[in-house]
Amino acid sequence: MKKTVLFIAISLLYFCCSERSKSTNKASTAVLEKPEFSIVIHGGAGTILRQNMTPAKEAEYRAKLEEAIRTGYQILKNGGTSLDAVTKTINVMENSPLFNAGKGAVFTHEETNEMDASIMNGKTLNAGASAGTQTVKNPINLARAIMEQSPHVMLSGKGAETFAAEHGLDIVDPKYFYTNRRFESLQKIKSSKKTALNHDEKKTAFYDADIKDSKFGTVGCAALDKDGNLAAGTSTGGMTNKRWGRIGDSPIIGSGTYANNATCAVSSTGWGEYFIRAQVAHDISAMMAYKGVSLEEAARVVIHDKMGKLGGTGGIVAVDKNGNMVFEFNTKGMYRASMNDKGNLVVEIYEK
Ligand code: ASP
Repeated sequence: MKKTVLFIAISLLYFCCSERSKSTNKASTAVLEKPEFSIVIHGGAGTILRQNMTPAKEAEYRAKLEEAIRTGYQILKNGGTSLDAVTKTINVMENSPLFNAGKGAVFTHEETNEMDASIMNGKTLNAGASAGTQTVKNPINLARAIMEQSPHVMLSGKGAETFAAEHGLDIVDPKYFYTNRRFESLQKIKSSKKTALNHDEKKTAFYDADIKDSKFGTVGCAALDKDGNLAAGTSTGGMTNKRWGRIGDSPIIGSGTYANNATCAVSSTGWGEYFIRAQVAHDISAMMAYKGVSLEEAARVVIHDKMGKLGGTGGIVAVDKNGNMVFEFNTKGMYRASMNDKGNLVVEIYEK
């Protein structure tokens, strides 16, 4: 009798879990067995539509996302730390011209490339961030060096570059970041004169569809390692045509990046101003900590009911302390991938 009751209870639990998984098309759901490690990445969210993509371009994105996530997967599989997995995975995307980070960073109004990045260690709650650098080849490495080798959390501009050089990071000529594609996007935006910043906020850059979508392509990663330590990191060139030293959410701990072993690790991408105002990454962790809700629910509420309702667009990738992975976004697509300890690979681009 007891066995029958137990069997029915387990069946019901399983049925509920699988039904829940059918009811959402944007987030993966809770796994029944805790994986030893998990890794999830994004390469930016935005109006990414199938009809605007050629098969060749799509294959290029998929291949690079796979290369990036396999890099982190291998580190985790070999018992490496989530911090190393996050850093090295992001390096692959920073070194590719496909994404708006490192090599493929977008241009500012002044035709420079100014990069932002951040990283957080979920075990110690230590964090590092850099903003507005123009010569550091891999900004995520700088964020990590700031976290581990300075008494500070965030450094910016020339000071951050001096710190990078003093700590032996790769410094490149600013020309390294030049790509035709990004330069042409800037020229297109400038010539369309849509950036006219007057008192009508509908005409500002943030309300212009072309401009707000041209910034997407930020990269990020969240991972859980075999020791149960979470980490997250984010790297970006920010927003095309940005000026006045504009800094987005990506280097802001709590907005673009957050990790806490007690809850989850999150990396954001999207319309930075809204992610800062909604404190997206920390809010997801806080909902889990204070309300005891699942990562999936916290991510859904913060992205759709909070950040989305303010008028923002974008998404997050996250992993919780039990290795559950979530993608959540309110845009037409988000370059994204996940892998668990069994080596199951998911690579997606479009909304489902
Ligand atoms: N969040 C980044 C920023 O606003 C851009 C992006 O994720 O695409 O700087």
